[in-house]
Amino acid sequence: RDLIRIRGLDKTYAGGSVHALSNIDLDIRDGEFVCVVGPSGCGKSTLLRILAGLDDHDSGEAALDGRAITGPSRDVGVVFQAANLLPWLTVRENVALPLRVGGRQVGQAEDVDRLLDVAGLKDFGHRYPYELSGGMQQRAGICRALVRSPRVLLMDEPFGALDALTRERMNLELQRIWQASRKTVMLITHSISEAIFLADRVVVMSARPGRIIRELAVPIPRPRS
Ligand code: ADP
Ligand code: ADP
Repeated sequence: RDLIRIRGLDKTYAGGSVHALSNIDLDIRDGEFVCVVGPSGCGKSTLLRILAGLDDHDSGEAALDGRAITGPSRDVGVVFQAANLLPWLTVRENVALPLRVGGRQVGQAEDVDRLLDVAGLKDFGHRYPYELSGGMQQRAGICRALVRSPRVLLMDEPFGALDALTRERMNLELQRIWQASRKTVMLITHSISEAIFLADRVVVMSARPGRIIRELAVPIPRPRS
């Protein structure tokens, strides 16, 4: 069953002079892990922001579970290249932050400890962000994106700022986190090898205008734990 459905999506910037996305069709099944690759400027982030409800589009459709995406929703968690943790809150408080809206508790606290555990941050909940490595901060950011149990997790180069070796370990960690949650995931990356390692399907984009030029099912079964 398709959770995300995109049809004929078009997006321009600068009064129509920059064609960021052209006639994008994309379906993402419930529970599927899709990676989007392509050169800089091909519209990957634009596509992600539209799905996250953070940007609008010119024409076409973008729907989540049959409903048009019109703005940010708690069904969608987002992770960017920088974790942007609040430095005056502990890791645990940062992860739990989305559970509090307007001073009210809107979710369950035990989710936080379970997430920290899965992300290998069990012993770091009471630490402050500056005490953690870059990789650990990003994992905390992923926990924060998952804390309200969204149906979809969108990630834009989540490990882009980390060195190659740390990235590789992060991808293993991410795979573990994904196996524990089985979210529907769309992850943007520059790295084809990363995409093939993580994804069920790789979507390849090309620039000027941004469009999908290939979709590759990854035929090798993912190692299951
Ligand atoms: P990618 O994530 O693949 O690098 P983007 O989605 O960031 O690509 O950008 C797609 C195109 O849209 C690029 O040509 C970029 O310069 C342009 N663009 C993105 N955001 C804006 C913006 N806010 N204003 C004007 N042009 C933009
Ligand atoms: P990562 O791949 O998460 O960026 P590092 O290579 O920095 O991790 O560290 C590997 C492990 O060392 C971490 O998973 C953690 O257990 C421990 N570690 C990293 N940074 C710190 C720190 N600032 N304080 C205590 N332990 C740390």
